[in-house]
Amino acid sequence: MRLGDLELHLLIAGRWKADGGLMFGVVPKVLWEKQKPADGQNMIDMACVALIARINGRVIICETGIGTKLSEKRALQVVLREPEGLLHSLRRLGIRPDEVDAVITTHLHWDHAGGLTRWDDGCLELTFPKARHFIQRSEWDFALSPDMRSQSAYVTDDFTPLADGNNLVEFLDGDGEVMPGVHIRHVGGHTPGSQVLVLRSGELACAVTGDLVCQTPHLRVPWTMSADIEPLRVLEQKARLLDEAQKHRWLLVLSHEPDQPAGYLEEDGRWRPEPRLT
Ligand SMILES: [Zn+2]
Repeated sequence: MRLGDLELHLLIAGRWKADGGLMFGVVPKVLWEKQKPADGQNMIDMACVALIARINGRVIICETGIGTKLSEKRALQVVLREPEGLLHSLRRLGIRPDEVDAVITTHLHWDHAGGLTRWDDGCLELTFPKARHFIQRSEWDFALSPDMRSQSAYVTDDFTPLADGNNLVEFLDGDGEVMPGVHIRHVGGHTPGSQVLVLRSGELACAVTGDLVCQTPHLRVPWTMSADIEPLRVLEQKARLLDEAQKHRWLLVLSHEPDQPAGYLEEDGRWRPEPRLT
């Protein structure tokens, strides 16, 4: 769809399942399972949602999903399907990976950064070899030496090749407009360097929320993940983002919603999916 000067395409970079307790933290299961039914293993359906934008002749990708590097055992554990989704969709749009100008992942957890690299004939290759990759310095540093609880969420093969022998990372310290119309907002909370992408064209805007708002039930401000390292900061930043999105009619893209992940927040707080993007 078009949003002013922006051309937007929504892609599903993979489908999988995650533990419902992990996704909804302190929210009682009797409440969340009405929204997202769990299977016999307490797992709920997840997607890795990616956004491709063309703006001023540039191609930008936000979020790369799990990618193709998971071991068979791990892929079975998370019931991974369509791991090649991002590259297939790019091909359908007629975009070669080396034509991508900028890549933004909201943070470096395995389910957002996995698609940054891939195995090719036993060599670890960059998926988007010519793109500038915008990452908060605080996220990079934490991902290299995470606390005990966060260790399993980061896989160094996902991101260190961007810097080792390559020079493709642009480190950010907070908010910034990294290209005309391409704004990055540092929100922290879920991880130290979590960020939200806001694409703007005049008064129009589209925001990719990352794990600040994973799925539609997370549009309720207190419904947060148990994995957040600073839960109160998540509440604060989420309330601020949703307030702006509602007031200024920003198009929101929810990074893990498997069913109609793009839409608008109505004045009464209801979610109105945008069918042209789903
Ligand atoms: Zn995630």
